[in-house]
Parts: sequence; structure tokens; C-alpha cells
Amino acid sequence: MLALVLSGTSVSCRPAGAEEQFRWAVHDMNRPQPAIVVPGQQCGQPPSNAVVLFDGTGLSSWISAKDGSAAKWQVANGYMEVVKKTGDIRTKESFGSCQLHLEWATPAIVAGNSQQRGNSGVFIMDNYEVQVLDSYDNITYADGHAASLYGQYPPLVNASRGPGQWQSCDIIFHRPWFAKNGKVVRKGRITVLHNGVVVQDNVQILGPTKHKVRTKYVPHADRLPIRLQDHGNPVRYRNIWLAELPD
Ligand code: MG
Repeated sequence: MLALVLSGTSVSCRPAGAEEQFRWAVHDMNRPQPAIVVPGQQCGQPPSNAVVLFDGTGLSSWISAKDGSAAKWQVANGYMEVVKKTGDIRTKESFGSCQLHLEWATPAIVAGNSQQRGNSGVFIMDNYEVQVLDSYDNITYADGHAASLYGQYPPLVNASRGPGQWQSCDIIFHRPWFAKNGKVVRKGRITVLHNGVVVQDNVQILGPTKHKVRTKYVPHADRLPIRLQDHGNPVRYRNIWLAELPD
């Protein structure tokens, strides 16, 4: 949607919603300064505005997704590892729009093929899965590869490292908005960098990620937990942090 803007004697069209931009003159010294955030010592380390969800020492930020009991995944050597059949785990806290960083590694010893090889997943807001999979030299359906938005968008490229290697995943997520009647009024959007490579470029999320089903939005809260998937494979995670983003 375009809005007609009168500025002095000139007339221009600009996208609606840009009002904040046009409240200020160019280089206006009265425009509020950005908040100061101290970046991590190294790229990928949590900045000062991050909520650290896993620093390698314990699962105090996590609980079992199915019954809220203590998370039963194994913690050792600075990482957590899926323990088969203990179920998904989720954060105790809930979040909406965010930047999320995490690192994962699929098993060094390759077992299985396609979706049975190093499968796990990162569910933003408990509903939207960025796939975790050993996609190195592994044929599967395109919208199920590592860093796909599962069942919706394949990654733009396959930037996978080999089995057993640590891989980074950086997600920029904007939550959907729902009207009081439950209708989605702004769909969610997601950008994903896999090992530093853009693989999802601000795509519009179609609804909760599903297996073999066309999805549609189901209204939910403005904030929900992050969930990690137990798909039966001993996938490892480390260095998980999140910074909330304004809507
Ligand atoms: Mg998965």
C-alpha cells in the first residue's frame, strides 16, 4: 500500500508504515541515539542484550515439552545432546520476534538416510521449524534439508558441513500478528544464515510447519517458547542465545 506524502512543494509516494522514518529530518541531532550493546568477544558469542539459553553448563533454561518436567537430554563437554525417546525440550521462557543464534552438530558416525540422518529441529514460537539435518551428501526432499523452513521453503543453497562438525545457525524471526477474531493480519517472516550463508531471505511463513500437510495459520499467543526436537538422532547443540527484536 502506498501513501501520498506532501513534503514542501514536492509530492512523493512511500510505503505506509514509514511514518517513524519521516518524523525526523535527515541527520536530525534530536533523533534518539541507538541503545548501546556490547558485542560478544568473538563472532557468534552472545552480545550484552542477549538471553543466554544454553552456555554449555546445564539445562536450567529448558524443560520437557510434553509435560514440563526437567529436560532429560545429556549435557557434556559444553554441549547438550538429544537422548532418544526423552522427547522435545522447550525453553521455560517465551519469546516473540527475535534474533536466535545456535550451533549444532549431527552424529560423526553416519547412520540412516534422508530424514533419518541427524534429524532434529529448532521450532521458533513452538510452531515454526528450521530444520536440523545431516544434509551433507544426503538426498532428501528439498523442503526438508538442513535450514529449510520445514515443508515450506528449501534453503537457497546447501551450506552444510560434514557429519560431526559444528555448524552455526542464525535466525531473524518476526512473529505473525493475529486479530482478535483469530485472522492473521501480518504473516511471520524469517531469515536464516547457515554457516554464515543466507539460506532463507526474509521469506513469508505460510503457517505452522507440518509434515506432508499444506499448512494454514492457527492463532496463538504473542510469545511462545523455543522448542528443540527429539527426532531419535543424537544431535548436539551448543551456544544458544536470543535477542528480542521490536515488532
Ligand atoms: Mg526435524
